[in-house]
Amino acid sequence: MSLSIEQTRLLVSRALEEIIENREHLNELDRALGDGDHGTTIARGAKSAIEALRDAQPVTTNEVFVLTGRAMMKSMGGASGVLFGMFFQGAKACPDAQVLDTTTLLSFARSGLDNLRQKTKAGLGDKTMLDAIVPAVDALTQEAKDSKPLPAALKHAAEAAEQGAQSTIGLQARFGRARTLGERAASAQDPGATSVSLFLAGLAKHLQEG
Ligand code: ADP
Ligand code: MG
Repeated sequence: MSLSIEQTRLLVSRALEEIIENREHLNELDRALGDGDHGTTIARGAKSAIEALRDAQPVTTNEVFVLTGRAMMKSMGGASGVLFGMFFQGAKACPDAQVLDTTTLLSFARSGLDNLRQKTKAGLGDKTMLDAIVPAVDALTQEAKDSKPLPAALKHAAEAAEQGAQSTIGLQARFGRARTLGERAASAQDPGATSVSLFLAGLAKHLQEG
């Protein structure tokens, strides 16, 4: 099973809506760990990306993700805008694709993770978005190896990201604003990792719905 460029554009837009709907929850998480603005910031990025996707005529599925990343980077600003922007723009370095299937999505996500690694030294367990992204990429790698179709692969990736985001509870942050809070902030779940998990859950959910 694979999606067309048009289906990919619609699916990504719907998943971005999930982030917007959870804005208050994300702000609440960021109030415990940072400056309380993550929901507002990423919802602004998601809205801008939805508008960019609506106005564009992408000719590859890569472009759907690149446009999303570019709009997020421009509209969000700050460290998280650059990081989310770089992640989505990973698709730029991948061969042009006309469809989205498990293999293409894996190549986009892996390239996005490579981009991130050039911007941050954060790794697993540092209580950042990487705690959701790394397990999701691992899950996609496994699904691609097993030749699994996109719906199953996305479901697995979304579950892995959710577990990864939940695993940040109890950890001390070593990057971003939260690093200065030490143990005080350990009990909160990382907002950036939660956004990644919400986005992947949105992709998985709306793909099942068709
Ligand atoms: P800001 O910290 O500028 O207020 P946001 O509140 O929008 O930005 O986003 C915070 C999220 O960004 C964190 O929860 C974390 O996941 C991610 N983040 C921030 N700095 C880094 C970093 N250096 N490396 C990886 N992720 C980071
Ligand atoms: Mg913040």
